[in-house]
Amino acid sequence: MKENWEFATRSIHSGVGPETKLGATTPPIYQSSAFGYDTAEELSDVFQGRGFGYIYSRVANPTVSVIEQRVNALEQGRGALAAASGMAAIATTIFALTRSGDEIIAGKSLFGGTLQLFSDIFENYGVQVVYVDSCDVAGYRKAISSRTRLIFLETIGNPQLDVPDLKQIATVAAEYEIPLVVDSTLTTPYLLFAKEFGVNIVIHSTSKYISGSGNSIGGVLVDLGNFEWKRSRSEAVRELSAKVGGFAFLARARKQIQQNTGSCLSPFNAYLQCLGLETLALRMERHCDNALALAKYLQNSPQIVSVNYPGLDNAAGYQVAKTQFGGRFGGILTIRLGTQERAFKLVNRLKMVKNLANIGDAKTLIIHPASTIYCNCSRELQEAAGVYPDLLRISVGIEAIKDIIADFEAALKEV
Ligand SMILES: *Cc1c(COP(=O)(O)O)cnc(C)c1O
Repeated sequence: MKENWEFATRSIHSGVGPETKLGATTPPIYQSSAFGYDTAEELSDVFQGRGFGYIYSRVANPTVSVIEQRVNALEQGRGALAAASGMAAIATTIFALTRSGDEIIAGKSLFGGTLQLFSDIFENYGVQVVYVDSCDVAGYRKAISSRTRLIFLETIGNPQLDVPDLKQIATVAAEYEIPLVVDSTLTTPYLLFAKEFGVNIVIHSTSKYISGSGNSIGGVLVDLGNFEWKRSRSEAVRELSAKVGGFAFLARARKQIQQNTGSCLSPFNAYLQCLGLETLALRMERHCDNALALAKYLQNSPQIVSVNYPGLDNAAGYQVAKTQFGGRFGGILTIRLGTQERAFKLVNRLKMVKNLANIGDAKTLIIHPASTIYCNCSRELQEAAGVYPDLLRISVGIEAIKDIIADFEAALKEV
């Protein structure tokens, strides 16, 4: 990879594997569970880390390596690990850094699946989650204790759409030598260059914008190479750093967590996500342009009580988003209709816009979070995450904006 390549070029040309020898233009799908060696000595060397090679696809796979290298090239990190899903990438990161008795600090307005992971798994295994208001920098400092092992937040809360000031929170985290872990699914490497803001580990659900067409589930975590793991408060990582130096976190995540939990990405999904990544820059521009235009249109609709989009200059996160995300604001917006009944009516009247639980698809999607993604969360947790009975979340696609607006215009006439 050329160091001076621009983002769009890196997303197409970085991390190309052995297939180039045959002239293939996309990464071949190495649909093989295991990889053979001529001699017992060679296989033993690879097992013992004396030689590099693939052994078994639960541990590493050449197609999966390409998506890891590409996302890593975009984030300019130390290395990446792909996972079966965004949830698997989050779980792997937290398993890698914590053990029973530890605490993590998390911004309150998290994706519903992440809230459930924390309460259903980690809290049951003795890892306490201390929630703070996502944007309250002083709150993070106050929540830190001797047991804190990481700070976790989302770049744009989903669906709260609040935008934490990463640089300020990273400064607090660095002062206490606690890694800052950020879920950048809504911003992708295109909108947020996480390293520049002091983030230490960045996570993406590649099921969303990176795959781009809603065709496969996957996730990736990237060690941005700016945390001294030998000084980590997480014992297992600190111990590994004596052996593998700066790669301690990645080694812990791959060899001790993912290898044991089996949450690897399939080669076929890795292939789809490599293809998606090639057009990420183009698509994100269209997603952001369309979302801003739709937000402005809906803001002027008398049928709608309120519109939340970080790109509207009256939004709470506008200023921070503008500097953090290079003048763009993502593809997600929420609207409130006054009552749940009216919200349901709008969903039911839309013809092109699809009602389903996903974001980051080429198609425009809508969902009523309170009765779906958040249906198992208490009212209190729902409100903390910005979920209300009359709220709808829209993931704006890359169709012609005229057609997206026309679908809303027609549907809104009937609610
Ligand atoms: C979808 C999503 C996840 C989970 O990713 P999966 O690939 O569905 O497991 C995590 N965080 C955010 C912000 C998401 O939107």
